Amino acid sequence: MSSSFENSIDFAQKKDQQDSLSSFRNKFFIPQHEGHDCVYFCGNSLGLQPKNTTVYVNEELQDWARLGVEGHFKPKTGWFKYHELVRESIANVVGASPLEVAVMNHLTVNLHLLLVSFYRPTKDRYKIICEAGAFPSDRYALQSQARFHGFDPDDAIIELEPSKGSELISNEDILKAIDDCGDELALVMFGGVHYFTGQVLNMKLITDAAHEVGAYAGFDLAHAAGNLKLELHNWNVDFAAWCSYKYLNGGPGTVGGIFVNERHAKNPHLPRFAGWWGNDPETRFKMPHQFTPVLSADSWQLSNAPILELAALRASLELFDEATMDKLVSKSLELTSYLLFVIREVLKEKGKENLISVITPFEKQQQGCQLSLQFATDGKQIFDDLTRAGVIADWREPDQEGRGSGVIRVAPVPLYNSYVDAYRFGQLLKDAI
Ligand SMILES: *Cc1c(COP(=O)(O)O)cnc(C)c1O
Repeated sequence: MSSSFENSIDFAQKKDQQDSLSSFRNKFFIPQHEGHDCVYFCGNSLGLQPKNTTVYVNEELQDWARLGVEGHFKPKTGWFKYHELVRESIANVVGASPLEVAVMNHLTVNLHLLLVSFYRPTKDRYKIICEAGAFPSDRYALQSQARFHGFDPDDAIIELEPSKGSELISNEDILKAIDDCGDELALVMFGGVHYFTGQVLNMKLITDAAHEVGAYAGFDLAHAAGNLKLELHNWNVDFAAWCSYKYLNGGPGTVGGIFVNERHAKNPHLPRFAGWWGNDPETRFKMPHQFTPVLSADSWQLSNAPILELAALRASLELFDEATMDKLVSKSLELTSYLLFVIREVLKEKGKENLISVITPFEKQQQGCQLSLQFATDGKQIFDDLTRAGVIADWREPDQEGRGSGVIRVAPVPLYNSYVDAYRFGQLLKDAI
């Protein structure tokens, strides 16, 4: 791979011509800077808007205008069953069978609803293992759940620190922590991709280890859904949740999704919070007195579905269907490898090899498109220069231990980023340093 790369515009253009997914870029609106496309490397934070989003959303607005309440049952895309239109696609994206997924609510809300079912601590088994430096919302969710059940979060939650001298959490440390906790362990919950470092965790390994000691394993897939090849069902994961506005391009704050393993989804005795949309659809409108969960992930649904958000998500998932996760992941590896190559070439050219260290263990894990670039000096200034030149990326202040001068996260997304984007990033980085 990288030995055959060249840091030139001709080479980047040739790569784009050979790329079977290159035409997908035209299906998105690319933000503009002084008459040119921005180098948009922020799909890990907010995915771009598919051109079809307006079409799908307008369709539902028109049906509402035309039909009022009858839009629920009108033949083609009736709202009563509208969520069925995304089921298959989202199941493919996360590697689940269709009955294991539901598209509903938002990420943190969904984590809480899943914790109701999968964190039911007892006096002896009440501990949770998660990563230190988790996304704040996930931490707040876990802490408040522990408190809600009468436990002190400092006692109940074990936050795994990265190995000494590293930004990353090792498999060995995770396995040891699970083993040490043993039958006190109720739950392991990690981000599938760490939002800051871009590290991808071995979800199968963690799930197996959790099950070994009688605990559940769940994952926050905010940075994994639409980015990695996931096989939640085959990995035997108990539950997962994600948002749809990052790699899934559903639009700001749009409806999220959950995975509940078939084993649990089909078990009517597993406690869950109930609402009418989780009731068996056959009897839902008969307004029965007794809740009968539909035996699928849908039974975690509480309220009727947000149709306009689902319409926006549908526009994007259609592109995932067309492109397929296999092809996206294979382009992602090549494109991110190329970006890494370009960055290293630029640093070499400038005689500044030590200016940037790449925290993300990209070459070791070979998956996920994000690179976290830690700057030894001048991080913020370089980031601001890049922004002024039309790069949209993401800035994180230095960590609490004060290492380096902050981190720029860049995510070349295979659906709409190009090899020319990666080349242009290199040129702008060269100007900025
Ligand atoms: C983006 C993100 C969130 C955001 O949560 P919302 O409930 O959608 O606001 C939560 N956790 C992680 C790990 C994230 O990356």
